[in-house]
Amino acid sequence: MVDPAPPTLRVALELPDTDAEGPGRRYAIWVQGCPLRCAGCCNAELLTFGGGRLVAPADLIARILAGPATEGITLLGGEPFAQAAGLAVVAGAVRAAGLGVMVFTGFTLDDLRARDDPAVARLLAATDLLVDGTFDRARPDTRRRWVGSTNQRTHALTTRYDPESTAFYAPRTTELRLSDGRLIVSGWPLTGALP
Ligand code: SF4
Repeated sequence: MVDPAPPTLRVALELPDTDAEGPGRRYAIWVQGCPLRCAGCCNAELLTFGGGRLVAPADLIARILAGPATEGITLLGGEPFAQAAGLAVVAGAVRAAGLGVMVFTGFTLDDLRARDDPAVARLLAATDLLVDGTFDRARPDTRRRWVGSTNQRTHALTTRYDPESTAFYAPRTTELRLSDGRLIVSGWPLTGALP
């Protein structure tokens, strides 16, 4: 039996080369839609599942592999595990090509592992580094470079990354880009610095 095509992804933004979203230079993909509602979420425009644009996993894989040389991809959002089937295909393909996979999720690793959902299991199996848990604005993390609040945990699911290394405690960075007339802010939010 032929495997069905992976579901089309709903993607808000792709940045093919950033060093503000995980270790090394990375291809970052913000997916559209999140079922959670953390107070103080810095990506509120990504919460609805109705926005973004539709992207075939095969097309995204081709763009990543044809793009600038990077250490890996970062999946964030939105909620990557709400689109686990398609992202598992993307993560698996780029890992097979030698890239690392980092994923930010609002669910906990324990929650995800307890689910009886093969797509979630496949995305976890294709993930090297997972940052988990909802954002809690009452507990801001001032030490870890890419993590929003102290309740969120960093899980090395393979040996590719060491969350205790100095890179994970380096000063935070923010990237500003102008693209097609839009100002794109990535990395650490410039709270209060922009309208
Ligand atoms: S899980 Fe992430 S994207 Fe979803 S509401 Fe919380 S902070 Fe926002």
